[in-house]
Amino acid sequence: MSIKSGPGGFEGLGYEKGLERCHELGLDACEVEFTYGVNMSNETADEVGKLAKSLGISLSIHAPYYINLASEEAPKIAASKQRILDSVERGHHMGAEFVVFHAAFYGMRTKDETYVMVKDAVDDLMATIKKKGWTPLIATETTGKPSQFGDIDELSRLSEETGCAVCVDFAHLKARNAGVVDYDEMCMKVKKIKHKTAHFSGIEWTAKGERRHVPTDEKLIKELLQHIKNHGISIRMINESPEPMKDAAKTLKLAKGMGLA
Ligand SMILES: [Zn+2]
Repeated sequence: MSIKSGPGGFEGLGYEKGLERCHELGLDACEVEFTYGVNMSNETADEVGKLAKSLGISLSIHAPYYINLASEEAPKIAASKQRILDSVERGHHMGAEFVVFHAAFYGMRTKDETYVMVKDAVDDLMATIKKKGWTPLIATETTGKPSQFGDIDELSRLSEETGCAVCVDFAHLKARNAGVVDYDEMCMKVKKIKHKTAHFSGIEWTAKGERRHVPTDEKLIKELLQHIKNHGISIRMINESPEPMKDAAKTLKLAKGMGLA
């Protein structure tokens, strides 16, 4: 049972200074964010990977936000797949463990119809990744809005049926359900998922789900870590607050105090 902790993004420091800052803070995980596009060469990805490895930092990538594997328009699905594959290729050069993405919107489709479309796309992506010999696992993320595909049950099933990983965003799970979350029930489900990584931060929500990420309250971190400990879960926790390094360091300190890191 152990927790790795680190930030989503480098707080504008760039990857070199960012990774070094993570190391100074004792952090051992980091998520590289390709939020608005995959704008990094394979050569740079090699350098990022080398530096992270030398500092003992586990890497993941967040693929671009413009992804919808259940779009009504076939070209949009193709473009979504390409963004994921571009991210996985960079991730392979970096030695990243996971490539995280928000898989789809339900749009006019039912939950079941959306599931089938996402599963087909994930099967196809995994076949391509295998053929290329790329090593990162793709991880669909639990999403923060009820209009988005990706509750914990959908993603647990997807992971079981395709072998893909899951990024459990604990803050999103709370927001998509208007603040109501049963961590015990959640952790029982999370424990059964074979390949997993996680996001956490403070969050604000409305009836439509996630509004924005906010700094992470110490009480909330402790509450989540206690449940993770009770259920014997090992996971990487990426903090996505507006101050992700500070909050990841806070998480690490608390995890250490609880014998989790
Ligand atoms: Zn995300």
